[in-house]
Amino acid sequence: MTSLEAPTKQTTSAGQRPPVAMLAELTHRCPLQCPYCSNPTALSRRSDELSTGEWVDIFRQAAALGVLQIHLSGGEPTARTDLPELIAAARENGLYTNLITAGVLLTPEKIQTYKESGLDHLQLSIQDNEAANADRIANYKNGHTKKLAVAAWVREAGLPLTVNAVVHRQNLDHLEAIIDLAAGLGAHRLEIAHVQYYGWALRNRAALMPTADQVARANAAAATASETYRGRMVIDYVVPDYYARRPKRCMDGWGNQFFAITPRGLVLPCHAAETITGMTFSSLRDHTLDWIWRQDPAFQRFRGTDWMPEPCQSCEFRDRDLGGCRCQAFAITGDAAATDPVCALSPNHDLLVAMAEDSAASGAPNYQHRR
Ligand code: SF4
Ligand code: SF4
Repeated sequence: MTSLEAPTKQTTSAGQRPPVAMLAELTHRCPLQCPYCSNPTALSRRSDELSTGEWVDIFRQAAALGVLQIHLSGGEPTARTDLPELIAAARENGLYTNLITAGVLLTPEKIQTYKESGLDHLQLSIQDNEAANADRIANYKNGHTKKLAVAAWVREAGLPLTVNAVVHRQNLDHLEAIIDLAAGLGAHRLEIAHVQYYGWALRNRAALMPTADQVARANAAAATASETYRGRMVIDYVVPDYYARRPKRCMDGWGNQFFAITPRGLVLPCHAAETITGMTFSSLRDHTLDWIWRQDPAFQRFRGTDWMPEPCQSCEFRDRDLGGCRCQAFAITGDAAATDPVCALSPNHDLLVAMAEDSAASGAPNYQHRR
């Protein structure tokens, strides 16, 4: 049996609990070109995107399945002119809506329209605290200045604001200033996300991988800032995988609480799952969401714990971390069913450490922007 074939013993899907959240990738179009973009290297074309009517029906199906929250994302979701209709459809189905945006296409009027359509929350990405470096990373002139204005417009509209900053070797030394900037923008929450090395980011690993010293300083800065801003701004910060010794509870488990829908209607257990070549994911153009959640072999493949190899299968932590990240296991070992190499107990952990050290030591300054 290859590692991607369905195992004979599985967690039963009939009793599978409903999902909590879904990520709706409305489009892969985006005016920015971040070198760490988590979208696939082969992007969906505009002509293949789900129509307004298809998304509206998907929101109905999602609510019926039990979904509570919907994250409207991309690409850049505000590139879709039907976004107010989509927000309204989500709201009509009782879904809590979060718009994840780079912000550069927004105006005060658009933000107001989204709010009146039912938007509950907005998450704005920033690339750095320094405008020149932020614009260089995103390859978008004056983007940073625009984002600062967008944050003010969001707060003026009375919407709660989360700021998201992806950090890597080329901005990590600014972490304290990035945190102060987010607080100054009136963010209720700051998500500091270290780059996940799949897709574009994997191509750019040598230019983005931080050094161990940078990570140590950043970990300390994040801990201090969490205390400084306690009660004013929640700071979400996770130690980067390549410098960790235990894996994260990725997606809270494969096919457990969450799914993502690509612009052309594929349903994924994780937004990066398409990086696992050899797996097939079903389309909402061929199946219902209920069928995919409960029956799709791709969702059942890594659900629960029965699929785990050793050392996970007999490990005391298996219910806590659920074996870590399948996409990372595939990216490092070529086997999506392997123990996440982040784990110090994985036979491939030394490989991951060596990759991190080699990438960080390379000092490569240049990266390839997302095209
Ligand atoms: S990571 Fe950057 S390029 Fe990719 S979708 Fe987000 S804003 Fe666009
Ligand atoms: S061996 Fe597996 S279950 Fe145990 S800590 Fe490592 S990844 Fe988690």
